[in-house]
Amino acid sequence: PPTGEKYEYQAEVSRLMDLIVNSLYSNKEVFLRELISNASDACDKLRFLSVTEPALLKDNVDFDIRIQTDKDNGIVTITDTGIGMTRQELIDCLGTIAQSGTAKFLKALKDSKDAGGDNNLIGQFGVGFYSAFLVADRVVVSTKSPKSDKQYVWEGEANASSYTIREETEADKVIPRGTRLTLYLKRDDKGFAHPEKIQKLVKNYSQFVSFPIYTWQEKGYTKEVEVDEDPAEAKKDGEEGSAEQKKKKTKTVVERYWDWELTNETQPIWLRNPKEVSTELYNEFYKNTFNEYLEPLASSHFTTEGEVEFRSILYVPAVSSSGKDDMVNPKTKNIRLYVKRVFISDDFDGELFPRYLSFIKGVVDSNDLPLNVSREILQESRIVRIMRKRLVRKAFDMILGISMSDNREDYEKFWDNYGKYLKLGCIEDRENHKRIAPLLRFFSSQSEDYIIGLDEYVENMKPDQKDIYYIASDSVTSAKNTPFLERLMEKDLEVLFLVDPIDEVAIQNLKSYKEKNFVDISKEDLDLGEKDEEKEKAMKQEFGQTCDWIKKRLGDKVASVQISNRLSTSPCVLVSGKFGWSANMERLMKSQTM
Ligand code: ADP
Ligand code: MG
Repeated sequence: PPTGEKYEYQAEVSRLMDLIVNSLYSNKEVFLRELISNASDACDKLRFLSVTEPALLKDNVDFDIRIQTDKDNGIVTITDTGIGMTRQELIDCLGTIAQSGTAKFLKALKDSKDAGGDNNLIGQFGVGFYSAFLVADRVVVSTKSPKSDKQYVWEGEANASSYTIREETEADKVIPRGTRLTLYLKRDDKGFAHPEKIQKLVKNYSQFVSFPIYTWQEKGYTKEVEVDEDPAEAKKDGEEGSAEQKKKKTKTVVERYWDWELTNETQPIWLRNPKEVSTELYNEFYKNTFNEYLEPLASSHFTTEGEVEFRSILYVPAVSSSGKDDMVNPKTKNIRLYVKRVFISDDFDGELFPRYLSFIKGVVDSNDLPLNVSREILQESRIVRIMRKRLVRKAFDMILGISMSDNREDYEKFWDNYGKYLKLGCIEDRENHKRIAPLLRFFSSQSEDYIIGLDEYVENMKPDQKDIYYIASDSVTSAKNTPFLERLMEKDLEVLFLVDPIDEVAIQNLKSYKEKNFVDISKEDLDLGEKDEEKEKAMKQEFGQTCDWIKKRLGDKVASVQISNRLSTSPCVLVSGKFGWSANMERLMKSQTM
């Protein structure tokens, strides 16, 4: 075969290839899922571009994926009519790791190694294109991009540190567009070249691919063929049979031939009736679509009609994929936007959800948006504003569902992952305060070990208690040791412990819950409704001079020194002024963690 130009893999790729080739991995079959998902992505990309540039499709408007097997030689060929790759794209995409899924895998692998584990991570993540080397020792990618008039061939081997690229010269291998992957299977993996095996894997793993997947299958039909009769047989039949009847003697034979067979169901799951789709199927769809390995915490499938029409399936992932620290500038690709079943982009999360809900994953399929929709159109669109509102509501319903689960741990898990996001919501989305507030959770003076909601707090309020008390601190331990708590504990009043820096700002944005104000017990005007004027007067007389003396000694370090009735055992306490920042807030501003 013609030799091509040689290129070295990026170091990470080599590392990954080593890992793949040397893993005695039992679940090698994920290779097919990964390669089909790439083929499907490639079709999505071209279909999207062709909306505005139909000429890109040349003469073939069909998008499909075809898998052919040669079991005698152990070869599997996967062909798509998608976007293909230019020479440069071959280098960028198949020689380096820039892509999300694979990068995520390497990171997880490192974390798991650091943690001393070495799980079957390849199966959980899939390693994209390179998973071809789980089963093949040679992979040939022949591809034609509409951006280029040449077709290129990428070729790589399982134990090599380099790959080659050349132009396709063999006339019978030329394709009008798209990509053909040829896998030369390892000796022990030739079983994957059985057509029935491939068919089974497609049905198992790629049931949610929205392009038709055809597999090359052997078929048979039965037909009657005339047979010359054995003269001895004819005799036995006796005289009754006339000459004509004898001629008609036939026998049934099976005629065999090979043909493409549609192997997947291409109707998207979100078009189905929610009553007919099981939780397992929703979860499978989620794992397939978002390359996740953990089940989601919750899902919601709905259709809206009327003013705007769209269908959607939303999910709460078990863990936040952007990480807790990425909340402010999430780069998520969590929402896949379709218009009339055509995949448009997974880059419009910010247009469809506020950033504090950027952890929600899902698909949204609109009938009202134009196919050539752009970010600018989305930002201006009234339809999108309505969609956004509905999506946000559905997301809250879904979260509320988790919070009402019989299993308290579910919501604790949610809160642990996404509590910060909801608190950000208190600050950024006044309009939805009513929906966010019941979802908040805190430790309290009466619940130091498990988090409680505001509803629980309110139920637990004393009959004459008007306000919701809180203290901001840096930990539960320091909150419960603060002298501010003494009087309230004595009166058996519950106090929320705000121990996350963002808590206090969030609460101050809410201002009240169920018409009860949030009150900081460290502020100077805390009123526990027990004013006794007589007693106060007497106290002032007795200790007025002491206060003046202390103020003189401390000078500018304090604003004032006052007599207070809020302590029971501690002699004094430092409080913040009515209008000033709380001590916690001050600490926060200093550390600039916001
Ligand atoms: P990912 O799919 O997560 O991006 P992969 O390793 O599976 O990572 O694929 C790497 C890149 O190679 C893809 O992003 C895509 O650009 C390119 N690619 C792979 N397969 C195809 C294909 N069949 N057609 C066009 N491009 C492809
Ligand atoms: Mg991929």
